[in-house]
Amino acid sequence: MNTQELRALSEEHSAHNYHPLPIVIADAEGAWVKDIEGRRYLDMLSAYSAVNFGHRHPRLVEAARRQLDRVTLVSRAFDHDQFGPFVAELAELAGKDMVLPMNSGAEAVETALKTARKWGYEVKGVPAEQANIVTFEGNFHGRTTTIVSFSTDPDARNSYGPFTPGFRTVPYGDIEALRAAVDDNTVGVLIEPIQGEAGVNVPPSGFLTAVREICTAGGALMIADEIQSGLGRTGTTFAVEHENVVPDVYVLGKALGGGILPVSAVVADRDVLGVFKPGQHGSTFGGNPLACAVAREVIAMLRTGEFQERSRTLGAHLHARLGALPSDQVREVRGRGLWAGVELNGKARPVSERLMERGVLAKETHETTLRLAPPLVVSQEDLDWALDQLEAVLAEV
Ligand SMILES: *Cc1c(COP(=O)(O)O)cnc(C)c1O
Repeated sequence: MNTQELRALSEEHSAHNYHPLPIVIADAEGAWVKDIEGRRYLDMLSAYSAVNFGHRHPRLVEAARRQLDRVTLVSRAFDHDQFGPFVAELAELAGKDMVLPMNSGAEAVETALKTARKWGYEVKGVPAEQANIVTFEGNFHGRTTTIVSFSTDPDARNSYGPFTPGFRTVPYGDIEALRAAVDDNTVGVLIEPIQGEAGVNVPPSGFLTAVREICTAGGALMIADEIQSGLGRTGTTFAVEHENVVPDVYVLGKALGGGILPVSAVVADRDVLGVFKPGQHGSTFGGNPLACAVAREVIAMLRTGEFQERSRTLGAHLHARLGALPSDQVREVRGRGLWAGVELNGKARPVSERLMERGVLAKETHETTLRLAPPLVVSQEDLDWALDQLEAVLAEV
């Protein structure tokens, strides 16, 4: 089948909950993908950071292959030889005691919310049914009914009510609003250290530090959703490190699965994750042998610091070049490391379409923001070539 026929099949038989670029990918390696007609494209999206280490990184493919030949799924009814090492190694990477593994990011966020409530009632002593969790305007934490209950994006919310109560939402970056929202019944503050889907919004300097202080003072858990910002994307293992902040709870996903399969996790100390007893939460696939084997390799790769370093140095280069784009075309550039939200003066969709025609895959978020997040293995030469294409497209539109 050709591109048109395959696109028609997708259009006809898949729900239209995405608006993909008109490309049909057949294979990929490193920072590059190929369509079914053999045209090559530089991937400047990395599956929203799930492909931080590039497509089919040899170490990750090898780890998966080794595990495929041994055992892939046992459920948590039985222990397996990848599980203990995985939770120990991930806990160590995050500097915490314990891990609760899940699959998708949304499930890990749900797990973190349940953790905060359970901790609130059983450890903090919040009266039954009174717990509240504070979230931020512009947040994106996933697509479940509870998570969209505190979304401020009408597309994400409309027609999905009735919503889950117990959430308060304050402006991102507003310290005083946060302070006013936290009370004795606040069990957690859920924050993206950089808001990804909102357009790579970096909070004002000092904000994460203030969130930490307010959580400590109010006896609430600081829950950092590092699903997109974490695991090397911003030049550090976790984006909270830019302010030397240590949250109580990390929520991880996307790159944790090495671009091979969904792996997510909640990571926290024993006084927090210790609240769970058998039967009180779970997942059939969470922590399966294949997932653990791949994630262990991800953790080992992150331990070298090599990917964080690439993101830092190439990211500085990326931001220098984006910062030099003409101000009549680009209103603002946000981000850290190999992650940028380019705020255009016009619509971003035609820009991503023209970039695709030139062999660069990037995707708009909202109307006017172009999001750039190449795999951390991208070469400077390829990155520069992609930026040349962006310059050319901006001059055209
Ligand atoms: C992608 C994302 C999620 C949801 O992850 P899924 O695997 O799509 O469920 C949650 N939080 C953040 C910050 C994300 O970027």
